Amino acid sequence: MTDIYQKLAHHLDHLPAGFPATETGVELRILKRLFSEEETAIALGLSMLAEAPAVIAERLGQNVDELAPVLEKMAKKGLIFRSTKGGQTKYNAAQFVIGIWEFHVNDLSEDLVRDMNEYIPHLMKKSWVKHPTKQLRVVPVSKSVSADMKVMPYEQAEEIINGQSKIVVAPCICRKEHELIGEGCGKPMEACLIFGASAYYYEENKLGRTITQDEARDILNQGLEAGLVLQPGNSRKPSNICLCCGCCCQILKNLKMLDQPAKAVSTNWVAIVDEDLCTACEVCTERCQMDAITVDDTAYVDPDRCIGCGLCVPTCDFDAMTLRETDPAKHYVPPRNTVATYLNLAKDRGLI
Ligand code: SF4
Ligand code: SF4
Ligand code: SF4
Repeated sequence: MTDIYQKLAHHLDHLPAGFPATETGVELRILKRLFSEEETAIALGLSMLAEAPAVIAERLGQNVDELAPVLEKMAKKGLIFRSTKGGQTKYNAAQFVIGIWEFHVNDLSEDLVRDMNEYIPHLMKKSWVKHPTKQLRVVPVSKSVSADMKVMPYEQAEEIINGQSKIVVAPCICRKEHELIGEGCGKPMEACLIFGASAYYYEENKLGRTITQDEARDILNQGLEAGLVLQPGNSRKPSNICLCCGCCCQILKNLKMLDQPAKAVSTNWVAIVDEDLCTACEVCTERCQMDAITVDDTAYVDPDRCIGCGLCVPTCDFDAMTLRETDPAKHYVPPRNTVATYLNLAKDRGLI
């Protein structure tokens, strides 16, 4: 007999980002740590469409006055998503990653982290790497961008920040979970910039703090100093920018294990070395989070490993490292908004 947690796992797997089953059942253990049976039954009744409590109550055959506080409690626990427009609060299903997992950034236990470290490589392999539409993409750091590069506004973190009226910075769950098990890297912890409706959710759930555009730009600068890769949401109007390290970020860590990480990211850029200028100082090898650079008599960038983050460019004191567009004829344009990204992902996965 299928138990209620198996049903929830199946339900989450039928959302665009997926929640693929394992042979060990670790994903069910994770759900049991997060959801009570009552919460599981309610989560099963939600779709990605935001709905008022009365609509959900009618579908579930429940009393709205009893259901509304439970929905709010579940939103506060990071199990479902809440949004408010024109004074009307609505709820919808949250995807597992990016979503429910990240909403637990201030609520981690060693057991949960251990289970997630077992599960995420499977999720990456069966969902993230396998399908062409990614939830995040890579953009170059601004100091790697030269005047002759045709970088679009959606490829510039500063431009993305300029367009935001609401920004929250949240702790990086990847670095937090590594710290919890004694494997922290010491890189900046406040590294997830969240925008728009998601920012209000983060603020209401006390997952982060509201900041100004100037503060967000300072965080970008600190990220550059620390050698963090810029990964905005994969749309022209992203709801977040992640500042990621190759040691803790579950995405970069798993990409790094591939032979050709460049094929599994959405990026338009690749680094190249001017051999005449390169002094083989090796500074760039430490900056690269993808192990894309080897240095012998000169540095060499493996184009199959380079994800075009630009971190190796500004620290080359000899101007030997630059970025160039991978293929101008195939310039990657992200979907126009997050909904379009998820529709593309749902199509990739054969859900629609
Ligand atoms: S490492 Fe990157 S993806 Fe992971 S939580 Fe931190 S900022 Fe987000
Ligand atoms: S930092 Fe610059 S000079 Fe040094 S090895 Fe890399 S490309 Fe060459
Ligand atoms: S070589 Fe490494 S650091 Fe440089 S752009 Fe490529 S991935 Fe980034």
